Amino acid sequence: KKLGIALVGLGGYSTYQLAPALQDTEHCYLAGIVTGTPAKEQVWSDNYGIPKKNIYNYGNFDEIANNEDIDIVYVVLPNSMHADFSIRAAKAGKHVICEKPMAMNVAECDAIIDACKDAGVKLGMGYRLHSEPYTQEVKRLVKEKTFGKVNYVTAEAAYRSLGSPNQWRLDKKLSGGGALVNMGVYAIQSLIYGTGENPISVSAQEFSTRPKYFKETDETITAQFEFESGVVGNMMTSHNIRANRLFGSCERGWYELDPASTYIPLAGRTSNGELNFEQESQQKLQMDDFAKHILFDTPNLAPGEMGKRDMMIIAAIYASIKNGGAKQSLNFEPSYGFG
Ligand code: NAD
Repeated sequence: KKLGIALVGLGGYSTYQLAPALQDTEHCYLAGIVTGTPAKEQVWSDNYGIPKKNIYNYGNFDEIANNEDIDIVYVVLPNSMHADFSIRAAKAGKHVICEKPMAMNVAECDAIIDACKDAGVKLGMGYRLHSEPYTQEVKRLVKEKTFGKVNYVTAEAAYRSLGSPNQWRLDKKLSGGGALVNMGVYAIQSLIYGTGENPISVSAQEFSTRPKYFKETDETITAQFEFESGVVGNMMTSHNIRANRLFGSCERGWYELDPASTYIPLAGRTSNGELNFEQESQQKLQMDDFAKHILFDTPNLAPGEMGKRDMMIIAAIYASIKNGGAKQSLNFEPSYGFG
């Protein structure tokens, strides 16, 4: 059986990445849509053969509980709406995929996790890289200590934002933050799978060069992480600088992904030579992995706890900046995993 996915929010990511990827998935398919824009209903119905009974708006969304075609609800809305729709989806008895960043704060992450537990549904983050072969190779090299102990990791996840100053990503009420909550999540994730450890502390700095454009949200942030084993971690995220990379220096070699978190194909190399993996849609792999988790009880590669962990790190980074770069301790339960 293929599981039916309903996409909630038909913006850029749903339109250009998720819906096309769902045409190739093996264990799930695009069964429904939830949109606040009536004009999109017909277009999506025509493009993807979605029956009228599987089309919802934000008002009647809860009726999805009665729709057996829909197994998974994928929340692809502005960040401030993630918690509300993830919780409503869980209450409707649907498995949930929640886009990054998981929510606006840690309390909302807890509320999503609890709602999914109470409803007995699975919860996955839209962290596509965990299904991506270059990323999986870095995880393997680190776990198997192919180059010995990791001593240093640095990750950059950044782009230069030149779009409308009215976009929701620049509106703190809708986004919850700037570069850090958007691209910074990738840098944080990179440091964690690039070391195989959760951090034990973080210190951070903020830089602003275009205050008229970035009125409410952070433009550029750097942060330094400490890890139990002594690895030195460094990250940069920005909405004003172009960079996308993960580099790890190990006892007997190194690895590098550049780009490391885009969905144009990743590329990478190690001190042993070029990495060369087949390129497939990351979104296809990600949604199939989540469907397999539901169908065959394979591991959940990006569980809700991982999204919450990253939100705790985001909160610590903002707290450090607020306190002049003061070191913030982090203490994760083992159940938060290393991803
Ligand atoms: P987008 O701006 O292209 O689309 C947002 C959608 O939300 C639109 O369809 C819009 O109509 C709808 N919406 C509903 N209420 C809105 C409101 N009050 N203000 C603005 N839009 C509203 O955004 P996107 O790039 O598709 O991002 C959506 C989510 O997906 C975000 O959480 C983002 O972080 C995430 N995302 C993840 C990835 C990834 O690689 N995993 C990539 C892109 C986006």
